[in-house]
Amino acid sequence: MRKVSIFGSTGSIGCNTVDLVKRKPEAYRVVAMTGGRNVAKLASQAKALKAEVAVTAYEDCLEPLREALSGSGIEVAAGEAALCEAAERPADWIMSAIVGAAGLPPGLKALEQGTTLALANKESLVTAGALLKSTAAASGARILPVDSEHSAVFQGLVGENIADVERVIITASGGAFRDWPLEKLAAATPAEASSHPNWDMGQRITIDSATMFNKALELIETHEFFDISPDRIEAIVHPESLVHALVGFRDGALMAHVGPPDMRHAIGYALNWPLRDHLPVERLNLAEIGQLTFREPDAARYPALAQARWVMEEGGLAGAVFNAAKERALDGFIEGRIGFLDMASVVADVIEIMSGEGLGLAAITLDSVQQADQEARMRADAVIAVRQR
Ligand code: NAD
Ligand code: MG
Repeated sequence: MRKVSIFGSTGSIGCNTVDLVKRKPEAYRVVAMTGGRNVAKLASQAKALKAEVAVTAYEDCLEPLREALSGSGIEVAAGEAALCEAAERPADWIMSAIVGAAGLPPGLKALEQGTTLALANKESLVTAGALLKSTAAASGARILPVDSEHSAVFQGLVGENIADVERVIITASGGAFRDWPLEKLAAATPAEASSHPNWDMGQRITIDSATMFNKALELIETHEFFDISPDRIEAIVHPESLVHALVGFRDGALMAHVGPPDMRHAIGYALNWPLRDHLPVERLNLAEIGQLTFREPDAARYPALAQARWVMEEGGLAGAVFNAAKERALDGFIEGRIGFLDMASVVADVIEIMSGEGLGLAAITLDSVQQADQEARMRADAVIAVRQR
């Protein structure tokens, strides 16, 4: 039996992971499951999978969680330190599916124990890629991509020599507003931005798809994960979301990964790696689909893409600053304090304020990343407060 833990089990990626694990109860023993305020869901998942421990991120949710699990024999815990402790419990495979920079500390703890980390939490690679990779190298841990585009690239590279790769193309759906006229975007509401044309995901990543902040994070993630130089990485709009990524080789071949927009494919690939196993995803009928279309992303509509280029060129703590500013701008939009287009402007302002601070030269430690993250959040809040008026 393989021991598995699921961080962020109550979220969209987490529930899809639970679904796959539940289908093979004989194959897995579940160590830790974690969530946030959705205590009822966490408790029912932990019972269904007979987890060893259930952890909520929030101290004030501890008592309700204890109550919901009383008599079950499942341990309970709460808070950031408890999440890190849960990540230290020996497991053969750990899903990192907390949303945002909060996923970094437990992700690092998981890597320190030399496990296989299935990484959905792209923010940790964007903010602290070098640290994640050196931690994994020191312990012998392995990081497997769960983001659909990166899983697709990873699969396209099996048996290949990375030196033969000329370019990597990741696809973007274009998000909720891809066909809206530009002048309508300023008035777009959080509810409108929270509905994705193709994928069913958490609210934050769904809004990040509409701004393409998600694709910006993914460009950086590609650069960090595969050590490919920024000039070889492209994003292209592909409204059907069936081709997830393409790898171009020096003989001119382009290897495309095609599949339904169902995260259980990428999660399952990471769960079964290095083997493949049956997965309960739709089989595509290409004749019915008929055509696949592609177009250049519009730079005016998606300023986040150019910001990602800046992060990749700058390196160092630029990713932490970019991600933190983006997270606060997203909070501001969700809370109705700023408009849809303001999100990219807030991030641009924070980049401008902090770009003279030698971010690219700084050493990447958990402390330095968290400090840069905190400062960028403060700067973003100040910018938002001005824009709000
Ligand atoms: P979600 O919002 O649905 O779930 C997030 C999970 O993290 C929940 O379990 C929540 O309780 C937990 N969480 C939230 N804030 C926390 C905090 N401060 N501390 C600890 N735990 C916290 O998010 P999601 O859509 O499942 O995305 C999870 C991660 O996977 C993100 O990094 C996202 O970018 C990435 N990802 C998601 C998808 C998708 O299809 N949803 C696809 C690719 C990548
Ligand atoms: Mg993705």
